[in-house]
Amino acid sequence: MINSISDPDNLALSAKHTSSPAQGAITFLGTGTSTGVPQLGCSCPTCLSTDQRDKRLRTSAVISVNNKSILIDAGPDLRQQLITNKTHKLDAILLTHVHYDHVSGLDDVRPLGEMRIYGERKVLDQIKRNMPYCFGKYKFPGVPNLDLFEIDENEFTIDGLKITPIRVMHAKLPILGYRIGDIAYLTDVKTIDENEFSKLKNLKILVLSALRRTEHFSHLSLSEAIKLSKKIGANVTYFTHASHEIGLQSELDKELPKNIHFAYDNLTINF
Ligand SMILES: [Zn+2]
Ligand SMILES: [Zn+2]
Repeated sequence: MINSISDPDNLALSAKHTSSPAQGAITFLGTGTSTGVPQLGCSCPTCLSTDQRDKRLRTSAVISVNNKSILIDAGPDLRQQLITNKTHKLDAILLTHVHYDHVSGLDDVRPLGEMRIYGERKVLDQIKRNMPYCFGKYKFPGVPNLDLFEIDENEFTIDGLKITPIRVMHAKLPILGYRIGDIAYLTDVKTIDENEFSKLKNLKILVLSALRRTEHFSHLSLSEAIKLSKKIGANVTYFTHASHEIGLQSELDKELPKNIHFAYDNLTINF
């Protein structure tokens, strides 16, 4: 279930994206880095902001295409994110990598019934180690019913919906982003191999991580993310996975190039 945009700041955007029949939608459940924003113990202007858009839970999104709702990543805020966005049905979960802010909420989907989880071998192995009570011969009664599906860089389908994994590098850690139809979701990116750009042509929407203004060893900075967005050339790009150092949302959008926006929690874009 996807909510429509209700934020007046985004009416222009909404109109733009709903002028042609919508094929799908993305809802940003969380747009914050691993610490979330506000960050514990911090009293910087961003962390003290009363603007709802400066409250960023851990990065996650639901992409809905052809009546299928696909969750990308399941961080520690998942339960609250799904409740806030009235998302009561998920068809599958795609995992980008196994860092805590991307997988630690998997247990939260238990009430939604049997759930298909897609990830690389090393990711699934770690999930089994993190949640041993959910797997193996003697499962604890009432545990989440998680079906693990191993994927690699090759295309696969979920109930006929084509998913294209994109190899991205999170510093030296190879992780996955995903293309579903005309949208690609790439988080925790530092670099992308030249070979992968062919999978990112003709995108309506690109979601890309942009951590902060200063450089970081494993994440794109704002200026690096802008440069990469221009190279990929999607119709519209939305940034996610922000640290408090990124500053206020109300200031951010004004300084970004045309067709690049900073996403915020609970924003829905139809495409
Ligand atoms: Zn992360
Ligand atoms: Zn702060």
